[in-house]
Amino acid sequence: MRRPTVIGNWKMNASFAQTADLLAGLSEGWTGVHQAEVAVCPPYPYLAKAAELLEQSNIAFGAQDLSQHASGAYTGQVSADMLLDLGCKYVLVGHSERREYQGETDTLIAEKFEAAAKKGLVPVLCVGETLEEREAEKTFDVVGRQLRAVIERVGLEGVAKGVVAYEPVWAIGTGRSATPEMAQEVHAYIREVLGPEGEHTAVLYGGSVKPESAAALFAQQDIDGALVGGASLKAEDFLAICRAAE
Ligand code: PEP
Repeated sequence: MRRPTVIGNWKMNASFAQTADLLAGLSEGWTGVHQAEVAVCPPYPYLAKAAELLEQSNIAFGAQDLSQHASGAYTGQVSADMLLDLGCKYVLVGHSERREYQGETDTLIAEKFEAAAKKGLVPVLCVGETLEEREAEKTFDVVGRQLRAVIERVGLEGVAKGVVAYEPVWAIGTGRSATPEMAQEVHAYIREVLGPEGEHTAVLYGGSVKPESAAALFAQQDIDGALVGGASLKAEDFLAICRAAE
């Protein structure tokens, strides 16, 4: 059995005051015991606030990135140990915005995945093709390459300790979600690559998930939940997506 999982990626959004409101709204709306695992990834400066305001809830939290290094002269970077000190459970690794704007390579992403997993954080490995790659029928090649880079570094057992998020780049922040069938096709492929070792690994879909589209996506056999960007910035919308995952 795989636990349905919904993770919010706030990206570089929200002020300190908005963070407090949003976290309070989530905490009030998600008390008690739930089947779904729920987590949010606010910007670094607000992680301590998340630790404080989510303490009484069943909502975990994580960071949007980490350094591949354990410590040292790496100005501006944040290590796995620092995230653990703050109470983080998750860390996103290889989000397409970091691949594109920070030039993160498959090799670097594999190093970051290893650095997180080695310390006991749960890395959320983001994979997905661009529109150009989809139109050139390269979706499986790209997603397979991105997965294999991490498998080569940490093995199938290592990858199985994390979460995988299939996020077609053309669907992120565009309002144009993959159809449930399109997403399912890639999720089935990811599951095949993960093999029996990944039997319990959650594979999430990400890309313009909204309260209205969540249920149909989650009804697919190999979609175990969602990584949510825009809709995770409104407590009501995010909680509706979380409820759809149960
Ligand atoms: C994301 O950034 O991971 C994401 C899925 O964003 P959105 O839901 O806004 O498309």
